[in-house]
Amino acid sequence: MGLFDKKYCDICGEKISLLGNRKLEDGNMCKDCAHKISPFMTDRRRTSVADMKEHLAYREANKAKLRAFSPTLTLGEREKVYIDGNAGTFVVSSRSPGNWDNENPDVLSLGDVTQCTLDIDEDRDEIYRQDADGNNVSYNPKRYKYTYDFRIKILVNNRWFDDIDLRLNSFDVEGMGTAEYHKYERMGNEIRAALTGAPTAQAGFAQAGFMAQQNFRQQGYAQQPQNFQQQGYVQQQNFRQQGYAQQPQQAAAPAQWFCPNCGAQNASKFCQNCGTPRP
Ligand SMILES: [Zn+2]
Ligand SMILES: [Zn+2]
Repeated sequence: MGLFDKKYCDICGEKISLLGNRKLEDGNMCKDCAHKISPFMTDRRRTSVADMKEHLAYREANKAKLRAFSPTLTLGEREKVYIDGNAGTFVVSSRSPGNWDNENPDVLSLGDVTQCTLDIDEDRDEIYRQDADGNNVSYNPKRYKYTYDFRIKILVNNRWFDDIDLRLNSFDVEGMGTAEYHKYERMGNEIRAALTGAPTAQAGFAQAGFMAQQNFRQQGYAQQPQNFQQQGYVQQQNFRQQGYAQQPQQAAAPAQWFCPNCGAQNASKFCQNCGTPRP
């Protein structure tokens, strides 16, 4: 068994080029044949030659399915979910339908979807300041930049693979509660609803967040009149005048602040990351 032993593809019979070998459980396949494997199949090395021949026959039949596929709904941005509402089928691909020939993305039945989840991965990077010597120094308390990735995991009943993963956002999404964040959250929920027909748990989660913020606001409003009552009428007048004078300034230049609880940078009244009111 040397590096220069000649190997032949157990699928097509052609000689396998140097570095062109793709291992199967009980044999070898060439690059050209390996290229035809479903983009969602991940366990080639654990697939037998006999099973791989069946898989490639299934992949060949998929080409005809793909020609008959006519999307009525397209969701997503980077990787897209194409749904043929008339046929009850769907395709996941980062390419547009005009460029599907080479990739041959699997046409799957909506009925084969057993579960679809939206995972939002949070990544936290500390923000440093530089001291006089140019060294990175932590703020006290520490400050962070929060970024998010939105991932859809589709579990399917299929002989050749169990799940399809796709990332919705092209670039890191900065900050929870930003317009970008909500855009991808909405996109994920649309995909979940389209693939499973189920109302989404994430929507409920978002509502809970919104209600928590509402509660904060209500508490804020509730506390003010109580203070007013204790302080008396004259002070209340002063407070109102100060309040009116300050408001236009705040609206003109919303100052950036860092949350004392989680360290996220904010511009609005409440931390967009954890809901803590501006100090
Ligand atoms: Zn081959
Ligand atoms: Zn916070």
